[in-house]
Amino acid sequence: MIRVRFAPSPTGPLHIGGARSALFNYLLAKKNGGKFIVRVEDTDRERSALEWEENILASLKWLGLEWDEGIQVGGEHGPYRQMERLDTYKNYTDKLLEAGHAYRCYCSTEELEADRQELMEKGELPRYLGRCRSLTEEQEKEFLNQGRKPVIRFRVPEGQQIVINDLVRGRVVFDSDGVGDYIIVKSDGIPTYNFAVVMDDALMNISHVVRGEEHLSNTPRQVLLYQALGIEAPKFAHISLILGKDRAKMSKRHGATSVVQYKKQGYLPEALVNFLALLGWSPEGEEEKFTLEELVQEFSLDRVAKNPAVFDIEKLNWLNGVYIRQTDTERIARMALPFLQEAGLVPDDEQEIDWDVFLSQVRVIQPYLVKVAEASEHFPLLLGEEVTFADKDTLAVLRDEQVPGVMESFKQKLAQLEELEPAVVKKMLKSITKELKLGGKQVFMPLRVALTGKTRGPELHDLIPVLGVSTCTNRVNSSLA
Ligand code: GLU
Repeated sequence: MIRVRFAPSPTGPLHIGGARSALFNYLLAKKNGGKFIVRVEDTDRERSALEWEENILASLKWLGLEWDEGIQVGGEHGPYRQMERLDTYKNYTDKLLEAGHAYRCYCSTEELEADRQELMEKGELPRYLGRCRSLTEEQEKEFLNQGRKPVIRFRVPEGQQIVINDLVRGRVVFDSDGVGDYIIVKSDGIPTYNFAVVMDDALMNISHVVRGEEHLSNTPRQVLLYQALGIEAPKFAHISLILGKDRAKMSKRHGATSVVQYKKQGYLPEALVNFLALLGWSPEGEEEKFTLEELVQEFSLDRVAKNPAVFDIEKLNWLNGVYIRQTDTERIARMALPFLQEAGLVPDDEQEIDWDVFLSQVRVIQPYLVKVAEASEHFPLLLGEEVTFADKDTLAVLRDEQVPGVMESFKQKLAQLEELEPAVVKKMLKSITKELKLGGKQVFMPLRVALTGKTRGPELHDLIPVLGVSTCTNRVNSSLA
């Protein structure tokens, strides 16, 4: 059975890269009837915080990536927070020490620094040189008497090739001599990432480790631990980095990096999930729009690319617009409400809002939203008797010679309409072009400018019924003044 996991460190909000790893794991599990597990790697005591754990878990849920087992939901292999598993790790450290796969190291920071300098001078990569590899019992006692607190290092076998058949990157070979004996337990007794992750993956029967490429260099260390423990290693799949459009690693200067920032700007989770899936994975056909359920059907690791994925915000915006247009107006209205309240465009007290009117207003601007937050830019158009004209060129549209005739005809026809609803208004607008023998643009453009102050925006036949006869007439009149 496929068992995969997402194992975030709660040291910051859930990032786009992490969300994509979680998504790929989720898809792999669901596609194959497997299990998706979420656990927390909180051994970095200084940087870990419950606040970040909550942020990460809330973001995963917002994206719809519910997990089958793990933190909050429980399961057979818990606990699912590393700091609650210290006893388990200790058992295995003892085994490794007994078998000679690990040893205590008493080196001081100064001694390690001296070794590092020496290696750097020789042009070699820094690694542990093995000072404490074969200490006698007396030597160990002596260090303990000096008050030194040991760390535990893994004894890396010499001259070994470590081969990883990565499901995305293919065969990757590391040389054990470049690795150096690394720390598996720190002097405070807390295990390091490379050790704890192996124990968790092994004890939770993880079949596939799907994670970011930045962890590829950790993988040989983890594989060596599996070998020493006599446990079969899971399959690995390292997914590429996410780059900005300038091909530099995605960072804050490229825009929002955390999921919650996207949520706050009014992106729909479906759009973000769809977008994240396309960051590194490509579907078989031309179609680019996929719901989470469709992604589950389509996903396979074979179609995950080796080369870096480029984060294209335009594409996300496009997808978000597509999803907004297809979403129920009620939901968009709910999402838009706090933005509009914040901008003082609708009352803070919901009781004071006529929900039907509000829905009809949102329906008019819904097709133009790229992010729901933009509702507050478009909404003023629907309020008040006056419009503000965008600029001089826009105003110039009102000076064309046919304009007074168009406005007059519009006002008359509007006053006579039996029903103020889009289809009827649409017909009425058309009849103006016919009767005055004008092109569509000659009619619609000045009307649009008079009614909205802009040359672009919502369909007039959607807008006019929402504004109502008197507001439309007042706006037209003041445009002629
Ligand atoms: N805690 C690690 C991270 O957040 C996860 C590494 C892994 O998946 O093995 O990057």
